[in-house]
Amino acid sequence: MLNSLKLSLDQRKVDGLLRQRRLLDSPQAEHIVANNQHFLSFCSNDYLGLANHHDLIATMQSAAQASGVGSGASNLITGHHRYHDNLEKQLAKFVHMPAALLFSTGYMANIGVISALMGRNDAVFADKLNHACLNDGAFLSRAAFHRFPHNDVVALEELLKTSTAKHKLIAADAVFSMDGDMAPLPEYLSLCEKYDAYLYVDDAHGFGVLGEHGQGTLNHFKLKSPRIIMMATLGKAAGVAGAFVAGEQVVIEYLIQKANSYVYSTPAPPALSATLSASVNLIEHGDHLRSHLRTLIAYLKDNLNCRKWQLMPSDTAVQPLVVGGNHEALALSEYLQSCGVLVPAIRPPTVPVGTSRLRISLSAAHSIEDIQKLIKVLHQAETLL
Ligand SMILES: *Cc1c(COP(=O)(O)O)cnc(C)c1O
Repeated sequence: MLNSLKLSLDQRKVDGLLRQRRLLDSPQAEHIVANNQHFLSFCSNDYLGLANHHDLIATMQSAAQASGVGSGASNLITGHHRYHDNLEKQLAKFVHMPAALLFSTGYMANIGVISALMGRNDAVFADKLNHACLNDGAFLSRAAFHRFPHNDVVALEELLKTSTAKHKLIAADAVFSMDGDMAPLPEYLSLCEKYDAYLYVDDAHGFGVLGEHGQGTLNHFKLKSPRIIMMATLGKAAGVAGAFVAGEQVVIEYLIQKANSYVYSTPAPPALSATLSASVNLIEHGDHLRSHLRTLIAYLKDNLNCRKWQLMPSDTAVQPLVVGGNHEALALSEYLQSCGVLVPAIRPPTVPVGTSRLRISLSAAHSIEDIQKLIKVLHQAETLL
């Protein structure tokens, strides 16, 4: 086995697919120290610049004083601290859902929810570009698994029409993590009503950023229905860590009993939930941050004029620049790095073959000058590579 692992790693390298970790020596922010160098970073999902916010740091410190650093046991034993409970109630209210449940990461939430709600006689319908953990949740559930072409409502309807599954769940990223575009959620909800299906919305990249006061993509589309279950992560715009699922009371009560990644796992430290409560307050009062972020997005789209590489049609903070080949995307990312600008090259299997790209991720912590620098080095790169 060890020999075949080595061969597989060697092949990855030849294909330009080997991934490497950068060593970060500063807080996560728009200016970071990585591999002992200073960089302007367009890598993180910290869309509102909260990951290093002084108020949140202070809250985490005082909450740790009051509640310690560990949860000690699963939620169903003694780990369900009041800070966790308060945060769940606050999140449910914020997104206008009957109830919410915390998970320690988005990955755990997706595998836990889908595998708990779906079983052998059921079917999951998933966008081809969905995040990997939605797929893993579907595999774990043992339900039939149908993938449809990206955002293709007609193809999805064909699949629903012919399905004989007992329960049906449409699962989609609300904002696609590597493309930045949005799922046609209103159309999906109509299909749910027509074919007696349910809609599972992964709002990892919409929560905190889109909708009224950052309530997320469901609010952006003004969607509300007992057929909707939403998930959002708390390590991206919320700047901390974790995730929550929100939906009907009965769904949340069922998940508390049946979602294995909830039942058999120690929750995050209570201090994290106290910090997240403060973060949700910052999100709710962060219209100025979202408005600045929208200004930056528009500035980049208006002023980046590469002939070789195209920005994808995205209006969100995720602005992918499609390069094509793996080696070419890596070379561009490395050139930017040599200019002190970090933008990750995203390659298969995270994105389809032939669409390797730079994933430019914007944050309210960036300034217009930061975007100008990014544009300048990309224009330089085009003449040099
Ligand atoms: C990041 C992400 C997740 C996983 O969330 P974590 O909290 O990082 O585990 C799930 N879905 C999507 C769409 C994501 O982008």
